[in-house]
Amino acid sequence: MDERPHGNETGEASLDAIGDLDALRAHIGDCHRCPLGDTRTTLVFGVGDPAARLMFVGEAPGRNEDLKGEPFVGAAGALLDELLASIGLVRSQVYIANVLKCRPPGNRDPLSDEMTACTPFLAQQVRLIEPTVIATLGNFATKYMLDTDRGITGLRGRLFRVGGRQIVPIFHPAAALYDQTKRDVLFEDFKRLRAVLDGELTTTQQLPSERVPGAWRTPSTDAATASEDSSDAVSQDDDAEQQTLF
Ligand code: URA
Repeated sequence: MDERPHGNETGEASLDAIGDLDALRAHIGDCHRCPLGDTRTTLVFGVGDPAARLMFVGEAPGRNEDLKGEPFVGAAGALLDELLASIGLVRSQVYIANVLKCRPPGNRDPLSDEMTACTPFLAQQVRLIEPTVIATLGNFATKYMLDTDRGITGLRGRLFRVGGRQIVPIFHPAAALYDQTKRDVLFEDFKRLRAVLDGELTTTQQLPSERVPGAWRTPSTDAATASEDSSDAVSQDDDAEQQTLF
């Protein structure tokens, strides 16, 4: 099983013992566990319904988010609001967080040390919120949640199941701001996300066990499996006929 750190290897209290989001935010504190603590303005923890059925995971705060302390408040956030509205949702009905809680300077890509330091907090947010559906926005969120090196272009349009939760990889809204084709794809993928929420699309296909991501699963679903509808997993799967393609 994937045993990514839970933040207690430095002698900190175990994150697993933290029972609600406020306590988790207090635990993170004025974080300097990685160098981004020195350059950020505001740590962006996450917003929304703490019991949301649908959680969005983005990459990292940008300039606007760093100033406001809230995820997706810039142009990409305005598009996310539009996409939510297109499926009858507003942001207070979902939970939104990022892989990194602090802005990388110049909006550069997250570094692996930063992800190692920060993702245990995202993992605990998932455990506490217990969403049934997680939409991963872009490469970094998708790679973390599915524990894969594959890029978003090859993964969007597929439905995955990890630890009892449906994972829906989606383009990052920022990538669609100036690309009408990606924008159209995003709106289509949100229609599918609605269908997943409504139980009209599901997948029960099993992934080979060595590919099961672990760190963010709830302990109660540790025995569960990850599944996807990608063709390379199909050949090794007993339940392949149950897969649902978007
Ligand atoms: N992009 C992200 O990935 N997250 C944000 O919060 C803002 C922009």
